[in-house]
Amino acid sequence: MTSVQELIRGAAAEEAERGHRRPIALRPTGRSAPGQAATSCDSGLARDPWAVDRAPGYGPGASTADAIPGDAPRQGPLPERYTDASEEELERRIVAAKARLGDRVRILGHFYQRDEIVRHADFVGDSFMLAQAAKASPEAEAFVFCGVHFMAETADILSGPEQAVILPNLAAGCSMADMATIDQVERCWRELVQVLGQEPDAEGRQPVIPVTYMNSSAAIKAFCGRNGGIVCTSSNARAVLEWAFERGRRVVFFPDQHLGRNTAKAMGVAEEAMPLWRAHLPLGGNTAETLREARVILWNGFCSVHKRFTVDQIERARAEHPGVRVIVHPECPAAVVEAADGSGSTEYIRREIAAAAPGSVIAVGTEINLVNRLQHQHPELTIFCLDPVVCPCSTMYRIHPAYLAWTLESLLEGLTPNRIAVPRAVAEESRVALERMLAAKP
Ligand code: SF4
Repeated sequence: MTSVQELIRGAAAEEAERGHRRPIALRPTGRSAPGQAATSCDSGLARDPWAVDRAPGYGPGASTADAIPGDAPRQGPLPERYTDASEEELERRIVAAKARLGDRVRILGHFYQRDEIVRHADFVGDSFMLAQAAKASPEAEAFVFCGVHFMAETADILSGPEQAVILPNLAAGCSMADMATIDQVERCWRELVQVLGQEPDAEGRQPVIPVTYMNSSAAIKAFCGRNGGIVCTSSNARAVLEWAFERGRRVVFFPDQHLGRNTAKAMGVAEEAMPLWRAHLPLGGNTAETLREARVILWNGFCSVHKRFTVDQIERARAEHPGVRVIVHPECPAAVVEAADGSGSTEYIRREIAAAAPGSVIAVGTEINLVNRLQHQHPELTIFCLDPVVCPCSTMYRIHPAYLAWTLESLLEGLTPNRIAVPRAVAEESRVALERMLAAKP
């Protein structure tokens, strides 16, 4: 079987033959279960991201088949002095620019970013940790957010009004966040109000409380803020649902059906009480009766990275590695979470791995860049990605060192490229929903 390095090298050679000077490498990824050869999910990963920035779709990687909204931001062309630079030159330029910018600029790197980016980050974490890092850095004039669009929005909401948040590549959206637009959510709410009314019950509980996962646009966080709702992360989803059930008879959960379902199931909510809301259908494709009986109405969104994990992969891992511990992210489908030994946020996965006894074998169901980094950080363990096919997040992958170099050098020239600025009213209402989350603990 062809290894991923061979596959990428082959694709790279083809690109070079076509005159493409410096194809992106898939070096940081590519390790599969011991004894298994890896393959890439998409040979387009061998191309530079700027080759696909303005093509329709999210580009190569896990979300390549997802529908992209027509108004999704696009990245303008990068000057050739970046697209033609060697990796070593980009590295030198990033280091030099960062040193000259000093404390004025902070680089925030998401766990799912490639190593060539993460090594320059002042803070590495999940989306909320990075937004909090921005909030805790009042001295910085700008944050270069190496992640995706909704994350940069959250950092802008939590950082000071004079601080700029910059997304190095505007084409780095999130296919899951894009699955719930504000127009669709407002329409859903109008229909729910029609069916469920607005009057609280005898115990003072509202008919429905909106809850949105952090992985959603600022407009949807603001919607939750002004409608008595709340935001959650994958770490605190249970505490947030408990908060919501104290105040409402049911919840409508945006946009990740899997996190909503997995969390509610663990709290004892029956599958039948969790109808799916399909945005293109009247009443989301449900009857009024089903919605009245619902406890959690699940938006039909998903993460294409975590949707790739299957029960078959878990069974194969157990057959090939007796004693393996399987841990997965709760954005995975419910059957996968049930078949695993444990599930939780990125922080949970990191903690589990840090606490594992030397010699342990751990199969992980989450994004490949993070799994590979954990492999390197823990040589005393055998860690591998459940999915034998190397398939990074299409949009996280759009943050290439060329964009980081361009962003930092633009800042040195006094420019502020790709600023993500959430309108003030939206930011204020989003903050309400975020503050409710912080008060809800843990
Ligand atoms: S991993 Fe999934 S949820 Fe995270 S940015 Fe990529 S598509 Fe969005």
